[in-house]
Amino acid sequence: MTLRHPVVVKFGGATLSSPARVIGWIRRRHDEEGPTVIVLSARAGVTDLLGSLLISPRARAAHARVLAHITDLHPGLSRVGRIHLARLHRLVQEMEGRGKISPPEGDRIVSQGERLSVYWLLPQLLAAGIPAVGVEADRLGIVTDNEYGASTILVARCAAPVRRTLKRWLRDGRVPVVTGFIGRSLQGRVTTLGRGGSDYTATALGAMLGASRVELVKRGVPVLTADPRWIPAARPIPRLSYVEAEELAQFGAKILHPLTVEPARDSNVEIRVVPLNDPGALTVIGPTSGPGGMRALTLLSPVCLLRIRVPGGRQRPGVVAEVSRRLTSAGVNIITLFTSSTLLSVVLESTRASDGRKALQPLVDRDRMVLEGPYKVGLLTAIGEGALRDVARLPLASLRRGEGLSATPRSVTLAVPVREARRTLVSMHRALVERRRA
Ligand code: ASP
Ligand code: MG
Repeated sequence: MTLRHPVVVKFGGATLSSPARVIGWIRRRHDEEGPTVIVLSARAGVTDLLGSLLISPRARAAHARVLAHITDLHPGLSRVGRIHLARLHRLVQEMEGRGKISPPEGDRIVSQGERLSVYWLLPQLLAAGIPAVGVEADRLGIVTDNEYGASTILVARCAAPVRRTLKRWLRDGRVPVVTGFIGRSLQGRVTTLGRGGSDYTATALGAMLGASRVELVKRGVPVLTADPRWIPAARPIPRLSYVEAEELAQFGAKILHPLTVEPARDSNVEIRVVPLNDPGALTVIGPTSGPGGMRALTLLSPVCLLRIRVPGGRQRPGVVAEVSRRLTSAGVNIITLFTSSTLLSVVLESTRASDGRKALQPLVDRDRMVLEGPYKVGLLTAIGEGALRDVARLPLASLRRGEGLSATPRSVTLAVPVREARRTLVSMHRALVERRRA
């Protein structure tokens, strides 16, 4: 028997505060579209609470309060859910006994949030007559690399067994409800995919199943042209190409986990980002972008910029590689970099400024490079087909004090002094978004 292409629907943690709406949504998908796979996040706040347990491994009293809070957030757990709650208590107790925690042990604890979420909603779905079945992603066979806390799903490696298992349930008319955010490493231990990782689970499953689409249902605002806290005139973006959405996720728009788009793009599965309370204001992410060029502006601020002057400049082979190797081995991530023939500017998280300086100090001592900064900057990125053309036309006062500019045809990134960042964002949004569609 051939099965229709399934729909994958992921619910964010905050949507679970309205279980009746979520259950109604699942019922409609199941009744109207047939095969439906659900992916759930942990309930809002739970991943933070679990993460807080790991900060002081011996703090028994604080842990007891956190565990009580987590218990309160999951009334009416199924039998398996109660087993997972007991397991969480045991894992925390073991950590307290050892007085320390390793990354895989931390992931094991944090992964309980999604398991509790599934086995908290499951009895409610069954009571509503929906033939749901709880599925834990690590047991399902979602395999990841060994990067605990921020792992990558090895889609090609696990697609066949995952597909086989899920399709068996779908053929029986069941609705698999899968934990987002977690998997199992090549070493066979539990992993987590990084904050917001349930989106990524959903698109990876969508790719493995050849889904007709993946819906990411969120509580808050839809995907907007800018962060509404800074730009009240920001508006929903109806359509983004995969490439634009990837740029948007990478540049600090918290709306999507950075790896979410990749599996969908690889297998050409449409993503829809849908607000729970305003389903009409959705964003469709697919192979092509919408009409009209510029899509969105993001602001990452404050971040820090270090300037490295290189005597002899580019005549010296391998300078860029050397700088990036030193930062990488100190665990400092380069957000972006700007180069000329004698100057190399790297942009880092602002908390890593002094680690970054320290990592580069040997270049000063040994190779007579000159290190300047850190300078606090804001990183503005304009994203969309034609972004470079559009930004190049702007009379931007703050460009005069710009610390760096890099561009591709689809994205322009500008580093400006932190005090000018907001003002620049406002004027760019006015010129590139508000005026053009007015
Ligand atoms: N629960 C995880 C987090 O809060 C994953 C997710 O919500 O997508 O980051
Ligand atoms: Mg969450």
